[in-house]
Amino acid sequence: QAFLDRIEQTDARINAFITRCPQQALQAAERADAARAAGPVAPLCGIPLALKDVLVTEGVRTTCASKILGDFVPPYDATVVRRLKAQGAVILGKLNMDEFAMGSSSENSAFGPVRNPWNTDCVPGGSSGGSAACVAARQAPASLGTDTGGSIRQPASHCGVVGLKPTYGRVSRYGMIAFASSLDQIGPLTRSVRDSALLLGAIAGHDPADSTSARVEVPDYLATLAQGVAGLRIGLPREYFIEGLDPQVRAALEAALATYRELGAELVEISLPHTEYAVACYYLVATAEASSNLARFDGVRYGARVDAGKGLAALYSATRSQGFGDEVKRRIMLGTYALSSGYYDAYYLKAQKVRTLIRQDFERAFAEVDCILTPVAPTPAFALGEKAQDPLTMYLSDIFTLSANLAGICGLSLPCGLSAAGLPIGLQLLGRPFGEATLLRCGQ
Ligand code: GLN
Repeated sequence: QAFLDRIEQTDARINAFITRCPQQALQAAERADAARAAGPVAPLCGIPLALKDVLVTEGVRTTCASKILGDFVPPYDATVVRRLKAQGAVILGKLNMDEFAMGSSSENSAFGPVRNPWNTDCVPGGSSGGSAACVAARQAPASLGTDTGGSIRQPASHCGVVGLKPTYGRVSRYGMIAFASSLDQIGPLTRSVRDSALLLGAIAGHDPADSTSARVEVPDYLATLAQGVAGLRIGLPREYFIEGLDPQVRAALEAALATYRELGAELVEISLPHTEYAVACYYLVATAEASSNLARFDGVRYGARVDAGKGLAALYSATRSQGFGDEVKRRIMLGTYALSSGYYDAYYLKAQKVRTLIRQDFERAFAEVDCILTPVAPTPAFALGEKAQDPLTMYLSDIFTLSANLAGICGLSLPCGLSAAGLPIGLQLLGRPFGEATLLRCGQ
């Protein structure tokens, strides 16, 4: 009830929620109370959580912040949702985001922009802006987001919370509405690293319903959390500490590095030589996959339909023209172009080859170091509207986060300071595939 009240009091300003479910939440809380009275319960029993609206929820509207799914009520729960409910978690509602998770500011939403709780004239980051803002505004103790190119880590950084993008395959994507299937992962946004470990443990693990989920043992992330960093080798990639980095971000990172050194970690300069190609590579791979994934929204099988009775092609065209926002249309066009005959080799195939080189950069680096420390974003949160008219500048703000998705590795974003204007600054730790335990331990 306290969290529901808090949402009621603050969400007119933050706009983190697209759909609230107070009734269901209170009922789930009652069931949790009864379970607790009856004996030992799972760690998340009775814990209120909120979910990015890209995760389908049985009986609860799931929009992906798009008009095209504006009144879509899924008949089933995503695997992560099912796992949280199985522990007795209480779902408070569905969170605002960039439409179909395309964006870095949570301004591309059919339900209005999310605002940063630290300064409501600023964006919260994106695309999981609602997931970060709701935790920062104490509307929920934790949330789930998704990360295709930085969408958990960057908003976590801009809102001063902890965000974890698991290794590709660590968490089932069943029931996550796909943006770019080879890059998408679900992960927690939390107030502490400990909560992040707890939530990851609850959602991770193989799922027969997602053939890309890995058959890799899920360790007890809490058990190794307090092991410290003495003796760990932390890599600092030369290509990430560049000219364009805001001096305040650099200073906050340097202070964090000094702390790691004091705690006994060894800092090692490394190189990830293909970093400069990551943005171009990502925006080809991601848009190509998006153009294919979003073909299913045709006005026939899901959600909105605009039909003037002029035949099937006209129905498709009218539904998609009116249902999708500008950024989604831009991505579908870019991706369709990159996949089209005659351009496929020059764009899509080339991007796949570059992707392999980027992955190999990390493989070489992880032969030398246990994790890699970088900035999350070049600057703290920017003003609402500042980059909205300039997609290229917006795309460039993902420069430090995209590579982890291309390489399939895990990444953790955690607060490391405040700017002069009082906005949070984050640092990013990148880890080996399935090396989340090491990242969480370093974060702790
Ligand atoms: N900002 C990136 C994009 O717009 C990443 C989005 C994401 O991770 N979902 O594609």
